[in-house]
Amino acid sequence: MKSAIQTAQGWLAGLILLVSLAATSRAQPQAAALSARPPKLRALILSGAGEQDWRTTTSWLRQLLVDSGRFEVRVNEAPVGISAASLAGFDVVVDDYSGPRLGSEAEDALEAFVSAGKGLVVTCGGLAATAGTASRDQTWPGLARLTKATWPTNAAGVTAAPFRVFDLKVVRPEHPIMQGLTPNLQTADQTAQGLVLLPGAEILATTDLANPLLFVSASGAGRVFCTALGHDLGSMQEKVFITTFLRGTEWAASGKVTLPAEIAAPGPETNAVRVLVITGGHDHEASFYGLFTGYRDLGWVAVTDSKLAFQEDIRGKYDVLVFYDFTRDLEDKGKKNLRDFVESGKGIVVLHHGILNFQKWPWWYEEVVGGLYRLERQGTIPNSTVKFGETHLITPAGEHPITAGLGSFHIADETYKGLYISPNITPLLITDNPTSDRTVAWIGPCATSKVVFIQLGHDHTPFRHPAYRTLVHNSILWTAGKLK
Ligand SMILES: [Zn+2]
Repeated sequence: MKSAIQTAQGWLAGLILLVSLAATSRAQPQAAALSARPPKLRALILSGAGEQDWRTTTSWLRQLLVDSGRFEVRVNEAPVGISAASLAGFDVVVDDYSGPRLGSEAEDALEAFVSAGKGLVVTCGGLAATAGTASRDQTWPGLARLTKATWPTNAAGVTAAPFRVFDLKVVRPEHPIMQGLTPNLQTADQTAQGLVLLPGAEILATTDLANPLLFVSASGAGRVFCTALGHDLGSMQEKVFITTFLRGTEWAASGKVTLPAEIAAPGPETNAVRVLVITGGHDHEASFYGLFTGYRDLGWVAVTDSKLAFQEDIRGKYDVLVFYDFTRDLEDKGKKNLRDFVESGKGIVVLHHGILNFQKWPWWYEEVVGGLYRLERQGTIPNSTVKFGETHLITPAGEHPITAGLGSFHIADETYKGLYISPNITPLLITDNPTSDRTVAWIGPCATSKVVFIQLGHDHTPFRHPAYRTLVHNSILWTAGKLK
């Protein structure tokens, strides 16, 4: 019979063996995975000026690159200061800049960076710089040398291309960027017109009308990828744009492509606010929907009719309703469903002409929104008035999470004056413009739900304004109870 000590020693030895075996078996695959994953490529996005809506496009490009897991990304919004030293740490420069010339030090540094064997990606916004819209003297000839392209049209010609849905025609399916991509991918964009390619440019894909869209070239030992896709933020949500932009950037940075042949826009986070955006009954620009794109904390769908929206009980489906429609009246069933939603303590955001809604439903405009655009004279009270293209100086009316960090800002927009405004609202923003009522955004008097009204929001000018975008985003988060 073994002694207790011998047994314990045997047991201990066995345990040590087991532990070390477990450690070895765990360590091996981990080490294998680490060596299989290539180090991240270092990308620098140049931005900060240009005709395009660079604030939103650049932040979207940055998010795409980061979310791909393949890149470490920095953004430079003052690229006039770049030098050989500041570019030294990067594998690829993504040019989303089309402002004034950068000056010879920055321009020479960029050309030397690429010829030394690094990568350059030029976006649709960046390519616009080759157009030399303001004055031919302002065009940097080095950019045409790098991209092998010029855009000899004026700005109006560039932006006047119609928005449409078309099939991408892949011309070089064997190129690493295009390998494995489905042929005839459909996308929606405002396609480039009038781009002229110079000798040395290799076209990878065109529109159905054979206009060049994706092209590459060599510059010294470096690689250049140009994309004329992604005219605006909406087009940049398209799978074709995302896939080719990411693969093109990887190729320019490294000469190889490891990213998948199909990459969709990153979906909303699992706990994102569920938003129903209601339009219809009033004209608006398609760019309105850009207000909700690019935010991972929003999961949104649009419905083009208030009557359709409230056909059923939607309390379980959405956290926040955004009204950008004009609906004169709802049937009893619709009224009940909307009322149930409001009374269940959800969020309501009313934008711009949404204040015209439900002219004969005092519960809505007196107790929920706290305001109404009077379409008709009411006794001695005249109807409300509207004026297009007014300049505002907007100032926060006090401290509130929705306007935190905003400060005052200038904006050109349509003004409303002579609205019915409840005495029970809490002002958020005031204006100095005499064609407008003084209060232009407020918290509604609703006792059960959080309600925000923002008078601004007629067209792309506010839609692109960073302060307006922040206001709408913050209002959605706050009415959903997510902004304290
Ligand atoms: Zn309007």
